[in-house]
Amino acid sequence: LIERPDEIQEQRVALPIHAEEHRIMEAVLHHSVVIICGDTGSGKTTQVPQFLVEYGFSDHDGPCPGMIGVTQPRRVAAVSMAARVKKELGLSDKLVGYQIRFDSELDSNTAVKFMTDGVLLREMAKDLTLSKYSVIVIDEAHERNVNTDILIGMLSRVLKLRNAPESKHKLRLIIMSATLRVQDFAENKRLFIKAPPVIKVDGRQFPVSVHFNKRTPGDYIEEAYSKVCKIHKRLPPGGILVFLTGQQEINQVVRRLRATFKSPKTATEANIAPVSVSAKDTDMEIDDIDLGGSYNSDALADADDNDRDDYESDDEGFEETLPETNEAPLHVLPLYSLLPTSEQMRIFAEPPEGSRLCIVATNVAETSLTIPGIRYVVDAGRVKEVCYDKETRVQSYRINWISKASADQRAGRAGRVGPGHCYRLYSSAVYENYFDKFAEPEILRLPIEGVVLQMKSMNIDQVVNFPFPTPPDHESIKHAEKTLSYLSALDKKGSLTEIGRVMSLFPLSPRFSRMITVGNQHDCLPYVIALVAAFSVGEIFLSEQESGADLAQIEAKKALLSSYNKSRSAFAALDPKCDALMTLSAVCAYDYETSKEEFCKARFLRAREMKEIESLRSQIARIINVNSGGRYTIADTAKLPPPSAVQLRALKQIITIGFIDQIAARSDLVLDVPEEFAYKAKTLRSQPYVTLLPTKSLAYEVDGVSVQDQVVFVHPEAILAFQSSIPEFICYRLVKKSAGSGKLRIVPMTVPS
Ligand code: ADP
Ligand code: MG
Repeated sequence: LIERPDEIQEQRVALPIHAEEHRIMEAVLHHSVVIICGDTGSGKTTQVPQFLVEYGFSDHDGPCPGMIGVTQPRRVAAVSMAARVKKELGLSDKLVGYQIRFDSELDSNTAVKFMTDGVLLREMAKDLTLSKYSVIVIDEAHERNVNTDILIGMLSRVLKLRNAPESKHKLRLIIMSATLRVQDFAENKRLFIKAPPVIKVDGRQFPVSVHFNKRTPGDYIEEAYSKVCKIHKRLPPGGILVFLTGQQEINQVVRRLRATFKSPKTATEANIAPVSVSAKDTDMEIDDIDLGGSYNSDALADADDNDRDDYESDDEGFEETLPETNEAPLHVLPLYSLLPTSEQMRIFAEPPEGSRLCIVATNVAETSLTIPGIRYVVDAGRVKEVCYDKETRVQSYRINWISKASADQRAGRAGRVGPGHCYRLYSSAVYENYFDKFAEPEILRLPIEGVVLQMKSMNIDQVVNFPFPTPPDHESIKHAEKTLSYLSALDKKGSLTEIGRVMSLFPLSPRFSRMITVGNQHDCLPYVIALVAAFSVGEIFLSEQESGADLAQIEAKKALLSSYNKSRSAFAALDPKCDALMTLSAVCAYDYETSKEEFCKARFLRAREMKEIESLRSQIARIINVNSGGRYTIADTAKLPPPSAVQLRALKQIITIGFIDQIAARSDLVLDVPEEFAYKAKTLRSQPYVTLLPTKSLAYEVDGVSVQDQVVFVHPEAILAFQSSIPEFICYRLVKKSAGSGKLRIVPMTVPS
């Protein structure tokens, strides 16, 4: 029996999950899979592992010997929850531990192990039956991360092995969710033949008043800042939690708030939760890249057209105003995954005496972490997520509206300690019309190539037959396998090659990983990184139209166009035919500029994208340094000298290897092309090309696809289109449908020699 301090015992008994202990443990004893649903803060993460300990699941001589493994999507949750459970159990230090990539606190007699889902996946690649564990708890399953989905699929098979009648060493699986939406796990016969019991835990929630903005400002960063100022100056005590989308935005708001309000002395080390965390820079999980992203126009725009007049009087939710303006200090802390773990842990410390806590966070704070003392939530309503354009097969990071379910979770964060307020920086019309009911599982949003590569690296050969909670369609899996074999990651039999194994170490899109595997020749890697970063961020050059030339008066128009063209030819100096190298020139030139905004303006570059590329380059370098196991070391990615002739040649080859499946041939070179497309035109712009593989992602099989589907034209703004030559082959980055004509246009990268 475990003796806990009275204070802790009182807190535990007060948690809603306490009333369900018997029901939960009965179910766990009688079923191999149990699903637990309960509101954030009801006690799932901290209490269920303790129930399991008390029922002997971690006893080495008990009925079910082994460790209790608990997975979390994010490393800050794994570390902080391990610390909390350790404290509540009050057992010897050794019994509760955590493991996140490159950092662990474990011991031979660990009873409860918290880890990120990525860590458990890698462990399964080595020990498929998870023989060290008696029970696995998959937490935050409602988030539907790819890792979580794959883990649940794998575990459904492992349970069959471990729970076969003759097996002596049984395994239990507990899936925990903060929402009731669990039918993809509970009612999925391919996953679990017998439907697992679903146990609902009541929430314990104070009322939260939700205040919508009357209109939806596009600049939600500014709006978030001013809302926090207003809350802090005018409303009674209570912490503020702000939801934004990413590192840059968060740091910007944190800096401004700290400058506006006196920031109290920052928390001392002693205030930080008692767990040793190494803040090594190398501490990084796969899902921890903060790739900048373009904005979804819907999510950015003033999406409703209410009168501007009533905007200023947007005072709803400020009725409780203090008699005098509050002069107390504001203790502002950022919270996002890329922050070193020890920095993230500061949110759990008591704010300095007399100050108000204000956390500016990504959706890390949506369900995984319960931040003490929050009474006000400011919700920008957006999230940065990976998106995949099925038409162009391009992966990008975009800022989208969150789902209604997420918005409700976020609002709920204000009602933990008492009645609270949630300020939504969008109108109720936007919420009703643009927010989906629930977010789509990540696996349906990702380019499946990366997922297939990851699964192959875990020895899952038959990806098509894998029991996904929400399966991607067969065709896209097959197509992904083809792409991976073109990239030399898979052999003819579909098994992982040595190249594929190295590629799987980098949490990047497989084409980019492929470029990195061949990037080490002639010191090209820093340039390859710059290219990969630029391709991930999207278009950096303003189009001719966006340059403003078409709107200006004739004279001004001429001048603008001429400076536009001059600036483009300056960037094309490395190679007049290669758009990719033009991009590289711009990215590298940017490093040397001191007034970057002016440079972007003068050179028709997108400032936001350029800034993101800069930060992404160092992130990618870090990922490569960390993941290549000493194979590569990249000291610095900035201020590169212009590449030499040898390097230029190598770079063009490297690009072609990464996009080997995206080559188009001049139509007169291709057999069986209909007459009308087979001619050799006078200018590149009117010259048809035929892609070697179909461009339509749903038409994977070459049979049955008409050649017309493969006929494309070079994008008229490509630098190549300004040349007189009409090359035989073009390696292209993406296919765009041009508006008026419906023609498919390729955006070229390089001309393979
Ligand atoms: P759930 O997993 O259901 O969302 P948790 O088990 O994480 O709930 O949290 C239960 C309670 O424990 C919450 O009320 C939270 O405030 C408290 N708690 C969790 N972690 C800590 C911590 N590090 N310090 C103090 N209290 C904590
Ligand atoms: Mg939890």
